[in-house]
Order: sequence, then structure tokens, then C-alpha cells
Amino acid sequence: MRIGVLGVHQECNTFSPIPTTLDDFHLRLGQDLVDHWRGTRTEIGGFIDILKRPDVEIVPILAGWAITKGRILELEFARMKQMLADSLRAAVPLDGMLVALHGAMCAEGADDAEGALLEVIREIVGPSLPLCLTLDLHANVTEQMCRLAGGVIGYRTYPHIDLYETATAAGEMLLRILAGEPRPRTVMQKVPMIVPGENMQTAYGPFAEVWSYAKSLQTPDVESYSIFGVQAWLDIQEMGGTVLAVTHTDEAKAREFCRLVAKRFWDLRKEFEVRFPPPATAIKEALETAGQPIVLSESSDSPTAGSPGDSADMLRALLDGAPGAPATLWLRDEAAVERAEQAGVGAKVKVSLGGAYDKINRRPVTVDAEVLRFSDGDFVMTGSQYSGMKTSMGRAVVLQVGAVTVLVSKLPAINIDPQLFRSQGIEPRDKKIVVVKSATAFRAEYKPFAARIIMVGTPGVSTSNIRAIPFQHVSRPVYPLDELEFNP
Ligand SMILES: [Zn+2]
Repeated sequence: MRIGVLGVHQECNTFSPIPTTLDDFHLRLGQDLVDHWRGTRTEIGGFIDILKRPDVEIVPILAGWAITKGRILELEFARMKQMLADSLRAAVPLDGMLVALHGAMCAEGADDAEGALLEVIREIVGPSLPLCLTLDLHANVTEQMCRLAGGVIGYRTYPHIDLYETATAAGEMLLRILAGEPRPRTVMQKVPMIVPGENMQTAYGPFAEVWSYAKSLQTPDVESYSIFGVQAWLDIQEMGGTVLAVTHTDEAKAREFCRLVAKRFWDLRKEFEVRFPPPATAIKEALETAGQPIVLSESSDSPTAGSPGDSADMLRALLDGAPGAPATLWLRDEAAVERAEQAGVGAKVKVSLGGAYDKINRRPVTVDAEVLRFSDGDFVMTGSQYSGMKTSMGRAVVLQVGAVTVLVSKLPAINIDPQLFRSQGIEPRDKKIVVVKSATAFRAEYKPFAARIIMVGTPGVSTSNIRAIPFQHVSRPVYPLDELEFNP
């Protein structure tokens, strides 16, 4: 059996001031794709492992991912679709396909970019080729995705520590279809609510309650189910949470399952709301807490949620409110990296940091810094999420600003893994305060050694204050922008 493997990932933030280009995805084809992803705890790594059977030939189609930014530029998305079409035309005939997509990717002219990619696939392989699709828990699932894919499975964890398991579950589903099991159907129920990610953990809190309620309702008619909280920063019409079920047997029963779970999700909507202290209050609390490191999360500037990563708000607050406390943080500022490069290692420079991209929410701060070291900014993720995945923050410099060790890079950086700092010679355990820019995913890696985690509220394009997000295109009414009745 020839099984095509495809993975294109991006969680778009339509409010980001920086658009996405095709280069951001580092798309790979052919054997290069397999060599790059094999052995990683990702969907593609999972696909490769589950298909390692004597009766299966893995046919690599296309794979890559981009960090969160604004919509993909129109012509760049057209090029992506062309690359996919060319690679797939060269690969057919296939017996089946495994496809990993995020589910919250948007392009100019395509609110449902994943639906558009699935359309390209179906045009080439036809409507009946068995295809199983995996999605991120923050996917904005559409009718189009469910119709064009056969079976759809989402992550069951946030922080996402089950990419690999999600992929192997999809692989098993596909292999059962190819062995003669009836085709599954995916049914879904949208939930008209937008909730912040911070309370979307699956181990505890309101979202965990929704998941365990779903588990208690599952019958043999529901082969698999997924619940999608959807990430908040999508200003598109078909926006909201989703409950989805895959069935071989009774579509009506699967729909009833989705309806009941959606109702429970809706009923808990107020429990998802969060309120965070401003930087000065959070820093004061951190200094009053015994032990270290105290991890302060500024989720409004999270690069994995589409923020530019250019907030110097926490640096300013640390210099003001904790002048002697060893602390570290990352921020993105190309000009500052270049300024430091001109000065060289060991030099003392006056440099402006922050506010380079988000001119609405950010202000730069000018500081005296010592240049400690440079690097190419590459690092390998080693925690429980994306383990083995290589990533890069671009050319990077470590600056010492008072007691704060500031890591500055040219590209956005994933903030969820302490390897961000360790790869640059900075040990978070040695600091009283570590600032990370991530809503929830960082918890999986930092919680085991953090003395305490405190969320910090600043404005930004990935703010958790849903009512402050300038939505224009989202279908109304929707909670919490409107008060409404919802009876699925
Ligand atoms: Zn996610």
C-alpha cells in the first residue's frame, strides 16, 4: 500500500502585524522530509513510525511548520498550494493519506486555509481515497475540513504532549479502513464562544471537566471524539469552539454526543475567564516568594500565539522593581542584535530594546548593556513537547542589563522550552525570575522545577482579555462579546 504523508502547520493570528510567507514553513519534500522528521515526537514522526510495516510504502508529499504570524500572503499561499499539487501529482496513485494540519491557519482570501489545502488534495486524489486528518486542539474546525477528510482526530492534551499519539491513532484508523473496515464519518457541533488559552489545560480546570464529561458519555457508536477550544486571535466568520466525533455506525448518536458535550462546554464558559496582575504587582509577588526560579508568563507577547515577541514591558518593570534580582527574558529585536554585533563581545553598549514591530501596544526601553555572547540561535527542543524538533530564533545575542540577562534574537522564538535559554548558556534555575512568553504550553517544561508560576497581564496581540480584541468579522452573537442563549 502506498500511503501519502503530509503535514503543514501554522496557528495564524490575524491581528499580528507581521504576515506569513512561504519561506516561514521550511517545507520539505521526498526523502528529505522523512530524514528530517523521523524519530521526532511529532505527527510526522508518528506517521512514519506507524507506517513502518512490510506492506506499506511511505510516500512523502510535503511537510513543514511556521511560527504564528498574520495571514499567509495571497501569492505565497498560491505557491504553497502549487507545491502541494505538484508533489501529490507526482506521487499518485496512492492507497491512502495521512495528513497533519493545525486547523487555525489563514491566508489572504482563505479564512479556512486547511480546507483549501484539502480541496487541492481531493482534486488530485478524488473524493473516495481514504484520508485521516489530525488537528491541533486550538483548531477552528470547519464543515469543509470534516467533509473533505474522512476521519478527523485532534490532540487530547494542552500543553500538547500527545502529537505523536494523535498521529499514530490517525494511522491506526487509516490502516483499519485499508483493511476493509467501513469508512468513518466525522460529525461536528460548533460552540459560539471564544475563550483564553490559559484556562484550557486538559489536566485540570474547566476544560478538563469537559473532557471527562465526554469520556463518561462515549459509547461504541463514537469511535473517537475531539474537543477544540480554538485559539482566540482569529478575526474570521466561522469562528468558535468545536466538538467532533468519528463514527462508523450511527451518525445520529454521534451528533447527539457532540450536542451534549458542546452544551457542557458552553455551560462552563465563565470558568475560562482569567484576570492577571500588571508587571509591577507580579514582580513584587515573585520577590516575596521563597525559592527560585519564579516564572512570570507574559502571554500577551507569545510568539507561538502570533505576537511579535517585542515587548520590553517586563524588562522595564524588572529594572524598576527588582534591580538586584537575577532574572532572564527573551525578546525579538533585529536592530539591537545588529547594534551588539557592531560592538562585539565584551563591549558596553547603549541599546534600544523592544517595540520594534507592534507599534500599538509596545514602547522601547533604552538600556546600558554588556555584550556577553553571540550564536546562530539554533536549538533542539528536548522537553515533552516537540521533542527532537530543531528550531531557530535566528542570529542571537546575550546582553547583561543590570541583573537581567536578556536574550535578543532576530526571529521569533518558541518560548515553551527552557532550551531557549540553555542553548545560549543561560540556566533558568540560576535566576530568581524567568520571564516566558507563552500562555500554557510552557507549564509542561517549567512546572517541574519552577518555585512558582505567575501570569502577568500586559496588552498585546495575543492578550487573554477577549473583550479587548478588536474583532470585526467574527459571526455574532458570540460569547463573551455578546450575551446569548445557546441550545445546540
Ligand atoms: Zn495548540
